[in-house]
Amino acid sequence: MKTAQPLSAFDIALTSLPNGEHRFQYHLDGDFFELFEASLIKKADIKVDCTLVRQGNRIDCRVVSNGSMDLPCDRCLESLAWPVDDTSVMVVQLTESPAESTDEILYLPLGETRLNLAHYFYENIHLHLPLRAVCGESGLPCKAPEGFEALANQTASATNTGTDATDPRWEQLKQINFS
Ligand SMILES: [Zn+2]
Repeated sequence: MKTAQPLSAFDIALTSLPNGEHRFQYHLDGDFFELFEASLIKKADIKVDCTLVRQGNRIDCRVVSNGSMDLPCDRCLESLAWPVDDTSVMVVQLTESPAESTDEILYLPLGETRLNLAHYFYENIHLHLPLRAVCGESGLPCKAPEGFEALANQTASATNTGTDATDPRWEQLKQINFS
């Protein structure tokens, strides 16, 4: 990936792409996301399974992304392996007069020889970044700093002292997972 034209690894030759179904597989890691200056993702392990169905000048793309990306936990700042599990579809239309492309349709001029979906993969994953990534809440573990859990337990038992144990609100509090 560390070549002069690193994204050319994602080029699909259109001139030699016959009608019918074609599959392309890619692996997106930290090196891939580093190629984009604005990337919020530094480490990732994502498998991309791309199915193209060509019908003349129209190519239907189905992109299945699976794996994980490392995000800092918003609570304890430890690294959290956030799951990526996404299926997106897009149409590529080769046309004499390309209109402005949208999220759903990518217009390319008729003579275009290559289709490169690297930006699409990149943007697609970024669209799925969570607003908030917190361990526990997401069902994902992440390493809490030393003493954090002990402190949380102390606080919980202090809260319970001298309280009517049948109060449902305290039962709710007990459900909160501090780990
Ligand atoms: Zn955390």
